[in-house]
Amino acid sequence: MADIFDMTKGELQEFLVANGMKKFRADQIFHYIYKQGITDWDDMVLLPKKDRDILNERLPIYFPVIESQLEAPDGQTVKLLLRLRDGQTVETVLMMHDYGNSICVSSQVGCAVNCAFCASAKNGFVRNLTAGEMTAQMLAFRKAVTPDLHSIVIMGTGEPLLNYDNVLRFMRLIHEQDTFYLGYRNMTLSTSGIVPAMYDLAKEGMPITLAISLHAPNNELRRRIMPITDRYPLEEVLKAGENYFNVTGRKVTFEYILIKNLNCNLSCARQLVHLLGGKNILVNAIPMNDNYDVGLYRPADAEIESFVSFLKKNGIQVTLRREMGNKIQAACGQLRIQRDK
Ligand code: SAH
Repeated sequence: MADIFDMTKGELQEFLVANGMKKFRADQIFHYIYKQGITDWDDMVLLPKKDRDILNERLPIYFPVIESQLEAPDGQTVKLLLRLRDGQTVETVLMMHDYGNSICVSSQVGCAVNCAFCASAKNGFVRNLTAGEMTAQMLAFRKAVTPDLHSIVIMGTGEPLLNYDNVLRFMRLIHEQDTFYLGYRNMTLSTSGIVPAMYDLAKEGMPITLAISLHAPNNELRRRIMPITDRYPLEEVLKAGENYFNVTGRKVTFEYILIKNLNCNLSCARQLVHLLGGKNILVNAIPMNDNYDVGLYRPADAEIESFVSFLKKNGIQVTLRREMGNKIQAACGQLRIQRDK
């Protein structure tokens, strides 16, 4: 069944005409959905009753149900657990920054990549999300919290480059003037390093920011944290990142979770400088959100501080991610797992 949130305006126009309705109704419908946050045909009162009846029958709207809405005590992070058409659930997070509101979008239900620190993969991979289900995550915030959306990061549950076609369709859709009109520069896609897809992405002509989850400075340690390293070794991931920069001119970000007693000692910092020094990249250091199930924890402040300052002293551009989600289980997949328990 077609999904209105998966459609471009051009596709909706075709659908309307094929079903005996006027083409210009697409403008009204897109205005209702994206400018007013209305997601029920019967509330679109400018449409003739006859059209609404046809649409209810042939293009029924299913809008995800908000199963829970959690707000962090600082008032700057809101997390939604959404129930999809088939009963599956996904998490999505809104983060309020100085520069604007950013949404962390999930791209799959569950995940197959199985990184040690991450809660998302715990119950395995379930299915890909459609582009419409990703658009609906943004619409859910638009409706429930704020219409003021500045950027997205595809950094929620799932490996976006293993759901390549839908994720690309989603980014193109929200870029359109009649939808969210979001610039590609305001979109970040985070990957565990699916090398062939990174080369494909470089050729799409979309200047989005590529973030690469690195989390270790050598293959041996990275394999323990991210088993996908067996498939795509560090050297190849770095080469694909460099290619992305060369082709798009967009600076690549490397995410590095700081995990207590594991990957943020001085030796790791040295290796990281050796690996990334002199490159035009950004390191985003991320204190681990404690995961009691797997026994991986946030290091002490002093440890974080000395790791970050060592990188800085050695010429690496590094930012320390503000920890926003900790109190509301906002790190990937934690809320969904809790619900399933
Ligand atoms: N599959 C993609 C996107 C999902 S994970 C990828 O691997 O990049 C994206 C990011 O979520 C990770 O790089 C990390 O920055 C963050 N993350 C996930 N679990 C976390 C945890 N327990 N603590 C801190 N950050 C976490």
